[in-house]
Parts: sequence; structure tokens; C-alpha cells
Amino acid sequence: MTESSIDFLTRLESNARTYARNIPTVLSQGAGTEVVDIDGRRYLDCLACAGALPLGHNHPFVQQRVIQFLQSGQLQQALDIATPAKLHFVQELYEMLPPAFAKRAKIQFCGPTGADAAEAALKLFKTATKRRPIIVFQGAYHGMTHGTLGMMGNLAPKQEITGLPGEVHFLPYPYVYRSPFGAGTSPEETERLSLVCLENALSDPESGIGKPAMVLLEAIQGEGGCIPASAHWLRQVREITQRHDVPLVIDEIQAGVGRSGDLFAFQQADIVPDAILLSKAIGGGYPLSLLLYLDQYDQWKPGAHTGTFRGNQIALVSGAATLEFIRNEGLLDHVKVVGDQLRQGLLQLQNRYPCIGDVRGRGLMLGMEMVEPDGRVDALGHPQAAGAIAASLKRACLNEGLIIETGGRHGAVLRFLPPLVITSAQVDLVLERLDRALATQMVSSTRVTKGTRHAEVLA
Ligand code: PLP
Repeated sequence: MTESSIDFLTRLESNARTYARNIPTVLSQGAGTEVVDIDGRRYLDCLACAGALPLGHNHPFVQQRVIQFLQSGQLQQALDIATPAKLHFVQELYEMLPPAFAKRAKIQFCGPTGADAAEAALKLFKTATKRRPIIVFQGAYHGMTHGTLGMMGNLAPKQEITGLPGEVHFLPYPYVYRSPFGAGTSPEETERLSLVCLENALSDPESGIGKPAMVLLEAIQGEGGCIPASAHWLRQVREITQRHDVPLVIDEIQAGVGRSGDLFAFQQADIVPDAILLSKAIGGGYPLSLLLYLDQYDQWKPGAHTGTFRGNQIALVSGAATLEFIRNEGLLDHVKVVGDQLRQGLLQLQNRYPCIGDVRGRGLMLGMEMVEPDGRVDALGHPQAAGAIAASLKRACLNEGLIIETGGRHGAVLRFLPPLVITSAQVDLVLERLDRALATQMVSSTRVTKGTRHAEVLA
């Protein structure tokens, strides 16, 4: 018998592979939110390459710009040397940055992944402030390199890696559903206490935390479980960091470029950060990674952050086309409308399925946290996170033709990151497929009482 394509790749690919494990098929064609595998099965893609495809697969506007560029004879790779593609991209981006930030912003083209922008921020702010400590938040995700692993909340990926950069301090994020201050703490109180922790870390001479080179945060935590921070909390963090003369760096790698319904998620708070990290969607589907920062910090030396593949020309073209499309087609309004439709649908499902503990997020960055439906609680008194149910539901969704990812604490959050161009009719289809998947889940849940679900879920 000949070996199947999947078996062939599975045999050869690294044990560290990820999405390929959960989506064991060969995906071939794609248009917008839809992808098709080599057997002709169609899926709605609510993963969109982990948020890196803002306009979905093969968007005609972006595709046409890329084809024109490929046929134009222009340089396809140019290190970080000036090219027309780079010039146009930078003009487009600066047009769309919040003006108060844009007028003082410098741009560093980083290596092609988001993690490299976070690495660059570490180096820049350590250099500019001459300080070493870093403050991040529990649940944070800024990449998988050695340096960025040191700033990751999730313990599992770093458990076996010794010698991670030290002097990284983790403060509680305002995760209101699962308050780090214990069950029964109101959202307002959770935010207030989180801010008290930050203020205390920066002002208590015995906090054990030296004055940090930066406070780095996601305005909506992505991998941490799709946890949005409120505008109030972001404004207060800005106020506290400013008062203590600590740079505030906002990682917009996942939430940026329209996903939240604003171009950048921090804009709901109307603040000016000291720096922004961008990757994923900013390349319009091609690899691009940027660190933007206020000019007063531009104190590193020439060559302080190099890398061969910085400023990928195709990504500059597709990124500029994507920004143009977002602006000209009013895509941010569309994100708000269909995002609200998806959220309302998820809330309705929550009314029917007791394993859905929480529905949250902004725009088209939504999460649905699964909990044990039998009312069990964890050590802090919160509903017990149900990672196994989420994993099983993800598989059931795939069977229904819906690609979706899990994340968050214990992998218990189903995360919706569809292309920003998803239509209202497709949102209805997503909800129908999810409903059917949940219904199969409930059948297996009922069997818990008969003692079979655990084995079934882990199989
Ligand atoms: N920062 C955030 C908020 C992310 O969500 C991610 C990736 O998911 C990264 C950084 C790292 O980006 P990359 O995977 O391209 O290195």
C-alpha cells in the first residue's frame, strides 16, 4: 500500500510541529474565508494563519498587486535598502498610524517573524534606558525564540529550556472572567487590583523589581486566551508608566491591523504608546515584522538589529495593498458589524450549552472559554477550565468543515480569528457548524456520567 501524503509528512516532520497535527489534511485551494483540501472538502477558516491573513486567502486586490509587482522587474529582495515598494509601504503605514504617534515614530524593519520585533524591542529599550528588568503580564505571548520565551506566561513551552533571560517580571493581567484575585472579584475590582500591582511594582522600593526597561503588553491577549483589556485599564497603565518614566510597548502583532475593529487595539483607549510591535496581518499574508517607536529612544547603534530577510518586498507590496483596502473599503466598520454578529451568535450558544463559560473579545478576535459543565471549580474558585472539551470540540468543528484553534489557560478557549472579510452569511454558517459540533460534544458529555468521556476526549 502506498503511503498517504499525510503519513509521509508526519513521518518526516519534526515532533514540534503544531497546526499540522490538528488539521490532518492537505489544504490546497483558498478564497477569502474558504479553503479546500485535496479531496475537495471545504472548510471555513476561522484561523486565517493565526491571524496573518486579514483579507483571507487569495484576495483579488492583493493578488493583483503582487502579480503586477512580480512581473514588474523590480527587486524581489533588497535587505533593508530603499526600494519603491518600501517607500510606498512606509507612506501608507504612516498615513494610518495615530497622528500623535506617527509624527514622532521611527520604524525598524525586523526579521520576518513577530518574535523578532519583540526581540528588537527588548534590545532597543534595554539600550535606550540602560535598564535590564522587563515587566510583562501573566498570559503574555510575544514569540517562541529564546528571548521571547522568557517573556511568555505559558509555562509549558519553556519548561525544558534552561537559561532563559532573567529579570522578567510577570504581573496579573485584568482577566475578568478568571480573576487572578480570586472568584467573586468584580471586573472593576480586578482591573483596579491589577493596576495597584503595577503601581506597587514601580514604586515600592522593596518590590524586588528594578526600574524596568519597558512594560510590554497585548491590548487583547491572544494566545493567553483572547482576553481584552478595557480602555480604562489601558489608559491607567499609560498614566502609571508615564509617571514613572517607563516606556510602554504594545504588542499589536495579533490584534493589530483591523482585527479588533480599530486599526490597532490600543486605539480604543486613545493613548500614545512608546512603541508598537507589528507582524502577521501587516504583511497582508506575507512575512513582515516591524518595531515602531518614538524617536527619543532611537539610541541604538547602526547594525544593532540586522537580519537578511528584513523588509520582504512582496510583503511590503501586499501589506500596502491591504492597508489601502482596509481604508478605502471601510473594512473596520465591517469588522465591527460581523464581529458583533458572531459574538451575539456565540452568546446564544452559551445560553444553550453549559460547557461554554465565557464569550469575549473585540471585533473579529473572539474567544469562547470552555468549562466543566458539572460546576466543578478550581483552586481560586473559578469554573474549572475544560481543555479536553475544547480540544474535542475543535476536532468536531473540523469534521463539520470549520477550522478553529484553541488557546488560553489549559487550552480551554476556542479562538475565532477569521479573515476580516468574512461575510455575514459565512458567520451564520460558522455558527451553524459550531452548533452541530457542540451538539455532538453534548452527546459525548452525557456519557461522562457513564465514565467514558475522558478516554474518548483524549483519544
Ligand atoms: N506577539 C503576539 C501577540 C503573537 O500573537 C505572536 C504570535 O502568535 C507573536 C508575538 C509571535 O509572532 P511570530 O509567531 O510571527 O513569531
